[in-house]
Amino acid sequence: MRLLVIEDEPRLAEFVRQGLAQAGHVADGADNGATGLEMAAATPYDAILLDLMLPGQNGLEVLRNLREFGLATPVIIVSALSGTEHVIRGLDAGAVDYLRKPFAFDELLARLRAVQRKATAAADAPVLRLADLELDLVHRRVARAGQVLALTNREFALLELLLRSPNRVVTKTRIAEKVWEVDFDMGSNVIEVHLSQLRRKLDRAFPSLPPLLETVVGHGYRLHDPAAAR
Ligand code: CA
Repeated sequence: MRLLVIEDEPRLAEFVRQGLAQAGHVADGADNGATGLEMAAATPYDAILLDLMLPGQNGLEVLRNLREFGLATPVIIVSALSGTEHVIRGLDAGAVDYLRKPFAFDELLARLRAVQRKATAAADAPVLRLADLELDLVHRRVARAGQVLALTNREFALLELLLRSPNRVVTKTRIAEKVWEVDFDMGSNVIEVHLSQLRRKLDRAFPSLPPLLETVVGHGYRLHDPAAAR
């Protein structure tokens, strides 16, 4: 796996990275949250090991910022804060796991295997779902409440991107990177135009159903499950 270790204690960071390398992983390191966020935005890591007590923004802030950026990278918190309340707060903030320091290295490796199994299972799932919406990647077919939607390739790609981060904001920058070219002109309104077409087919066409596509002003867009807790 390709991993990012965000840890400010140099000896521990080095120990973890060496151990991961010996186990066949590729591990990069960041000694503070801001650098970690930049690296996570630039590289599609399979998982991030995140310390909580960091200089500058703490681990929970880093985790929240990751999700604000629309990054769904699985995060395992690795912290000396061992109280149940810290574990609960970390998991509720969106971490997939919480490992208390000091830890046995084999346990860290086992938890990484669990993250990998989950990712493999998700990648194999040919149908993405949210509420009454289904996107079938194999047959490239989208349906809401059982009714097939006629989407262009671009609208399909947009919807797939949003569906892969359900209930999370996906920024315009990320949409530009994933659905358009890298040299996309951020000044143009082409994303807004496509999203408004998508909204027409996805939501306006179903006036009796709750809307799924949300604009989060100043941040980006989000597909949300009306039944999910906000
Ligand atoms: Ca620390």
